[in-house]
Amino acid sequence: MTNKWQAGRLNSDLHDVGLDTLAVRSGQRRTPEAEHSEALFLTTSYVFESAADAAAHFSGAVKGNVYSRYTNPTVRNFEERLAAMEGAEQAVATSSGMSAILALVMALCSAGDHVVVSQSVFGSTISLFEKYFKRFGIEVDYVPLQDIGAWEAAYKPNTKLFFVESPSNPLSELVDIAALATSAHSRGVLLAVDNSFCTPVLQQPIKLGADIAVYSATKYIDGQGRCLGGALAGRAEHMNEMVGFLRTAGPTMSPFNAWIFLKGLETLKLRMQAHNENTLLLAQWLEKQPNVEKVYFAGLESHPQHALAKKQQQGFGAVLGFDVVGGKEAAWRLIDATRLISITANLGDAKTTITHPATTTHGRVTPEARLKAGIKDGLLRIAVGLEDMEDIKADLARGLAAV
Ligand SMILES: *Cc1c(COP(=O)(O)O)cnc(C)c1O
Repeated sequence: MTNKWQAGRLNSDLHDVGLDTLAVRSGQRRTPEAEHSEALFLTTSYVFESAADAAAHFSGAVKGNVYSRYTNPTVRNFEERLAAMEGAEQAVATSSGMSAILALVMALCSAGDHVVVSQSVFGSTISLFEKYFKRFGIEVDYVPLQDIGAWEAAYKPNTKLFFVESPSNPLSELVDIAALATSAHSRGVLLAVDNSFCTPVLQQPIKLGADIAVYSATKYIDGQGRCLGGALAGRAEHMNEMVGFLRTAGPTMSPFNAWIFLKGLETLKLRMQAHNENTLLLAQWLEKQPNVEKVYFAGLESHPQHALAKKQQQGFGAVLGFDVVGGKEAAWRLIDATRLISITANLGDAKTTITHPATTTHGRVTPEARLKAGIKDGLLRIAVGLEDMEDIKADLARGLAAV
């Protein structure tokens, strides 16, 4: 079914172009309407030319759209653009970041397999492994993110997957992804990296040696707090397994959300650069403030893994933590004294947000486990947005004065 719209200059047939160009143009296939911006296909199913054509589509003899749980042109546009930016063979979109992790494990692991996870991953990720995967016979162990020796010590003959989030939330710890990939591969283990915080603009896990990149698109890929979505990127052999799970079980991305995300990719680099600059400014400022004990941000020269962050990332991201003097009372007073910054645990938004991890994101963890993880009672997390940082500083200064 090639027509003139699918060939030549009305289509995006890109070779040897830069990341910025891929972000704006890749994956687009224009319809006969010759629309300039990417079309949004809000349709659940597709029609066939004849009974024979329908049968051929269902049997797979003819490749084409059948039903949007299987394929949708807008979702495919997002997947192809993300894969191009990631430098991956293929990407697969999911209904949320959590369903990306669900698809990853459902597609690659079976009962009796063992998975090693960094202990500082997103809270719902731990719940998914602990409450659900374990019930279906998957063994799970947790190790300190940075310590390659601990990953190697946790390895067992049935280990299938290493799962990491780097940099971590909220303490901005890192693992050397290339070193961990080498270690995993020498044992026949796959490495998956949750790259939601960096996005392909700031870190390309696959180029560093990881097998699969995992995304919550809800965060920076959307960037304005509108839609839930997720994605996986990697080699076709793995991605086809994910597709099989997703089209059967159903946590596929909605076409509307895919359209928001693929337009988000067009401005992702500019937004990440601004998020980066703002966060570094704010982190440096916070380090100098009275009542601030410590700032956790890999972009600071005082951060023990600053050199590694510079080596494997093209920017430091936009999430920072800091300890205030005075514990929980002081931290809550600071939050309540701000007027501009949003009090919410969400991140990856144009709007700056603040949260108190010990009583929110890490609230269900025991105090001992929290301290072991470095989450002190006076710790605050800021996900830095795109406002004028002078206004954010003034807001925080008001909060720090209230401490
Ligand atoms: C938010 C987040 C998730 C989960 O994504 P959802 O889109 O909310 O399901 C997973 N990993 C990280 C690092 C996140 O920040």
